[in-house]
Amino acid sequence: MRRTNDVKFTLVFGLLALAALTFASFPNQAIAQDADGDGIPDSLEKVGITLVGGQKFLPCTGAQGENRHKCVDWQTPDLFVILVRATGCPGTPPTCSGSNVPLGSCAPLFNTRKTNIPLASDTWTTYPTNAAYYPWALVEASNQNGGLGITIHEITASQVNSSTRAIPGTSQKAVRLTESLNACGTDQLGSSTWGTPNTTGTATLYTQRIINKIEQECKNASTCSEDITGETGLNLKYLYIQNLLVHELGHVMALTKLWTPEYGGPHEVSGSGYIMEQKPIVKAISGSSTSVKWYISSDYSGQCQSDLDLFK
Ligand SMILES: [Zn+2]
Repeated sequence: MRRTNDVKFTLVFGLLALAALTFASFPNQAIAQDADGDGIPDSLEKVGITLVGGQKFLPCTGAQGENRHKCVDWQTPDLFVILVRATGCPGTPPTCSGSNVPLGSCAPLFNTRKTNIPLASDTWTTYPTNAAYYPWALVEASNQNGGLGITIHEITASQVNSSTRAIPGTSQKAVRLTESLNACGTDQLGSSTWGTPNTTGTATLYTQRIINKIEQECKNASTCSEDITGETGLNLKYLYIQNLLVHELGHVMALTKLWTPEYGGPHEVSGSGYIMEQKPIVKAISGSSTSVKWYISSDYSGQCQSDLDLFK
């Protein structure tokens, strides 16, 4: 999802979107023939996968117009992702500590469903033109287009082994991303442990902190927009949440192996323009009025593309 961005700015924002990360080494699983390296044996992808509860993913045929999300392919990676949306603000608000005081309220953007992650039925109002909200597009894009070439199958927690997250018929695990509306501060926007779907595989997304952060930064600005797309308001929030989803997903697909303390862990430097940068840059341009620009990346770097590991 290449949006050309040759802008390189220095860090103007000291906040950390860093994750608590640990390195661990695990032996390779003895795995059957797996041409696409997604951890699901070819033999299974050639007959289809039936999840707990009965949803079946037949083998892809390659026919024109085939819905790739409804089939599995032994030749290109498939990843099952459980996206757990919030169910409303915490009944008992957490105690915020240190500098991590609430910088906004817990008041979900989409009040009727008490979550901030848009649904697939939601649409961007301008970018891309009135398209459905589909966060995984950035992961599914080809390497050439800045993506990872992985097909994401969004499922629910009850469709895999409830304790291991294993997909029926294989030891390969689904990833689980959980939305939290904890509004303590705007420093840490995501939390995950570096690894693969099988070694760590879970992450938390603090979507309310994104909303609060954008509203805080934009409060006194005459204009507040994303640099490449020009998006403002609701779409700007959509973009940042989309970026967070695919960034945290990256941490549990073994991207950015190097722990770099000055980048807050296994991240690329802010301003690199890549999804695994420590955090998107926001820049206030003062004049007779202040305009605020956000630089929200939509590509994985070549290094990240080669770091990808779904099954170790
Ligand atoms: Zn991160």
